[in-house]
Amino acid sequence: MQSAMKRDYYEVLGVSRDASDEDIKKAYRQQALKFHPDRNPDDPEAEAKFKEAAEAYDVLRDPDKRGRYDRFGHSGLGDNGYSGFSSSEDIFSTFSDIFGEFFGFSGRARGPRPTAGADLRYNLNISFREAAKGTAVTLKIPRQVTCERCKGSGAEPGTSPETCRQCGGTGHITQSQGFFRVAVTCPVCRGQGRVITSPCSTCRGAGTVQETRELEVRIPAGVDNGSRLRLRGEGEAGVHGGPPGDLYVVIYVEDDKTFRRQGQDLIYTAEVSFVQASLGESIEVPTLDEPATLHVPKGTQAGEVFRLKDLGLPHPSSTARGDLLVQVVVKTPTRLSKKQEELLREFAKLEEEKPLKKVKDFFKKAKDQVMGE
Ligand SMILES: [Zn+2]
Ligand SMILES: [Zn+2]
Repeated sequence: MQSAMKRDYYEVLGVSRDASDEDIKKAYRQQALKFHPDRNPDDPEAEAKFKEAAEAYDVLRDPDKRGRYDRFGHSGLGDNGYSGFSSSEDIFSTFSDIFGEFFGFSGRARGPRPTAGADLRYNLNISFREAAKGTAVTLKIPRQVTCERCKGSGAEPGTSPETCRQCGGTGHITQSQGFFRVAVTCPVCRGQGRVITSPCSTCRGAGTVQETRELEVRIPAGVDNGSRLRLRGEGEAGVHGGPPGDLYVVIYVEDDKTFRRQGQDLIYTAEVSFVQASLGESIEVPTLDEPATLHVPKGTQAGEVFRLKDLGLPHPSSTARGDLLVQVVVKTPTRLSKKQEELLREFAKLEEEKPLKKVKDFFKKAKDQVMGE
């Protein structure tokens, strides 16, 4: 655009040279509404006037630019004059306050909007041992990826989507309801502003295709049931240049026959005979690796717990380890030989000869209380 060809900005907006800011804004609003592309689809003349008005307003609303324009005319705005707006989009985004006032929305959505790809969730079952030691698994993930043939545009190579005729590319149409003008999503292009006339033969216009991807995933040692691993960018492809989603691998750990888990600690239940518990004995307990020896001390009570340091599960994100907790269960023999029974009776007699002091005290106390009443 050459400045020589430009009309006077005051003339464009139809205001006097001493018009107030408010007058200028009001005048522009009228012009913008009159030449709005929604009202004048496929009308280059109206589009030119729409741009011209926006340019005039952009200069006159700014005291500095207006001052230079008043003194030097178009050449006061730069070597080649003020370049104005290249597209209606610029206008909508620059004056979104004004367009928001008219239509209840700001700017316009010409062309498809970039949309982020969906996140994917993959449920992975692993054994207790795999969780304890860590493992590598190959996941087969069905997902949508960008179509290579059309590079995601959905249009057959060599063709391009056309501006939607219904909405003129705005993605919405305005409907009058009495005094109000209401914007609704264009039903023809579903708000995209463009329609594909020759769909890509591979993806049929979707822009994405289904693919099964193999993905090697390292499961860190010590993961717990319900842990989630996030793999960035391994989800569904984004649409129209949007970023891909993420892949979440949710880990389900099977129960183990030998150990129970409590955080990073392992719990193992060891059965000992009452003789072992009474006399004390070293027993062998399983661990995640080689069996370990636990010394069950003399006089161990049923249910007592012994802690074997650092023989539990590793932490997935540190070098710390849990412990192995061994709970001792004392077995009462169910079948005794005659000899064993005799010995136990003998043992019982010896117990009777030194009665339990605490039991005696208890009875004494109970008696006292009754007497006192
Ligand atoms: Zn395609
Ligand atoms: Zn449309």
